Amino acid sequence: MLQFKNAYHQQLPGFYTELNPTPLKKPRLLYYSQPLARELGLDDSWFTPDKTAVWAGETLLSGMQPLAQVYSGHQFGGWAGQLGDGRGILLGEQILADGRSMDWHLKGAGLTPYSRMGDGRAVLRSVIREFLASEAFYHLGIPTTRALTIVTSEHPVFREQPERGAMLLRVSESHVRFGHFEHFYYRKQPEQVRQLADFVITHHWPQLAGEEDRYQRWFTDVVERTARMIAHWQTVGFAHGVMNTDNMSILGLTMDYGPYGFLDDYKPDFICNHSDHQGRYAFDNQPAVGLWNLHRLAQTLSGLMTAEQLQAALAAYEPALMQAYGEQMRAKLGFFTQSRQDNELLTGLLSLMAQEGRDYTRTFRLLCEVKQQQADTPLRDEFIDRAAFDSWYQHYRQRLQQESVSDAERQQAMKKANPKFILRNYLAQQAIEAAEQDDVSKLARLHQVLQKPFDENTEYEDLAALPPDWGKHLEISCSS
Ligand code: AMP
Ligand code: MG
Repeated sequence: MLQFKNAYHQQLPGFYTELNPTPLKKPRLLYYSQPLARELGLDDSWFTPDKTAVWAGETLLSGMQPLAQVYSGHQFGGWAGQLGDGRGILLGEQILADGRSMDWHLKGAGLTPYSRMGDGRAVLRSVIREFLASEAFYHLGIPTTRALTIVTSEHPVFREQPERGAMLLRVSESHVRFGHFEHFYYRKQPEQVRQLADFVITHHWPQLAGEEDRYQRWFTDVVERTARMIAHWQTVGFAHGVMNTDNMSILGLTMDYGPYGFLDDYKPDFICNHSDHQGRYAFDNQPAVGLWNLHRLAQTLSGLMTAEQLQAALAAYEPALMQAYGEQMRAKLGFFTQSRQDNELLTGLLSLMAQEGRDYTRTFRLLCEVKQQQADTPLRDEFIDRAAFDSWYQHYRQRLQQESVSDAERQQAMKKANPKFILRNYLAQQAIEAAEQDDVSKLARLHQVLQKPFDENTEYEDLAALPPDWGKHLEISCSS
């Protein structure tokens, strides 16, 4: 028996509209995440065909009180006004055995009062992309919402062309976004801003409840979590694509996976979202955008803290990001200690990679093979400008001499920081095309390998291959 509570529903009246999902035509459970199901205490009997109605939002479980949340946000740098769950419905909050609770949020669940011009639906393509990315992120150790089920249907949904309507059950400790705070602030409802801050502190920072400086400590933690999340994105080579404030989680989780992209060739100014003409959300702009978004959040909290307190919290962003980025990049380079040349070595490698458009994931994985005493390395063959590579490589090997670990130890540690398998766009695309023909084998296989991205897993070697030419030029837009 699953248990649900409805804290958002009970404690935040006026922050949502109560409503049920609107069913799809002929829904069918296509796939689910077994590891996540286990964490939630759900055995396989929950995922037999007769349970489709649960995952398609037709049957509500006892204790659920479905609702659509209202929020606002800044989109592409401008104030967008009221947004809200335009196609997602919070079904309920599952209480887990360890006491935590998890939102069950059904995406693609039909029209809501916040749908604006949209149809309230999600297409199978975008649901699979979100499913794979959130599961991949989780297993890479990057804070993220999760994805439990994919429901497909015969419901036609029109994007550039007719596609299949689908639903994703997203699971997260919270769906509160920066945009929730902005909504009530810009409506001049400071009491609601305070109520929301108290709500998230009570539920997610209980150690701060009742403390006099709780708002400042909480906001500082939000700043640091956001910084660390973005540091993770930069080290793994992930571009989110739509870092609007309505897509920023108050818990510092990666959320609302849309036109995201993992880097193939290393291009610092990579833009994954085809609709992002200005490159606002280009890969190398993400750290700056994260801070910009936090400034928008800070503004909404001006009734809870002094300007000095807000500034002090915001000032924690850059050091937190640099520290997390530095630690992770040193691990990728195989440095256990810290040295002054590290930054130069990193930027040296990255600029070589950028000049020659080398594959981000593969280059770092090949770096794991380096032997400190050996002048030759398979990595050398990756670069055309051998002289430039040799010069960098010589410095790198010298730097490795400062470490007091064996090659084997270092290689093993590096392989835990440099994934072999990454969710490349073309891999997702292949899984999508097969799933659209009701063949989930590629999706399942990809999902399988993404659960162990750091392992050698040689029987999945094809999924570590570089993208074919068509796979580098897929156009991903916001229309999901
Ligand atoms: P996104 O950029 O995908 O996070 O979406 C921004 C806003 O548009 C959110 O409020 C979404 O709920 C809403 N939205 C996106 N797609 C649809 C759709 N097909 N129908 C209704 N609302 C949508
Ligand atoms: Mg969104």
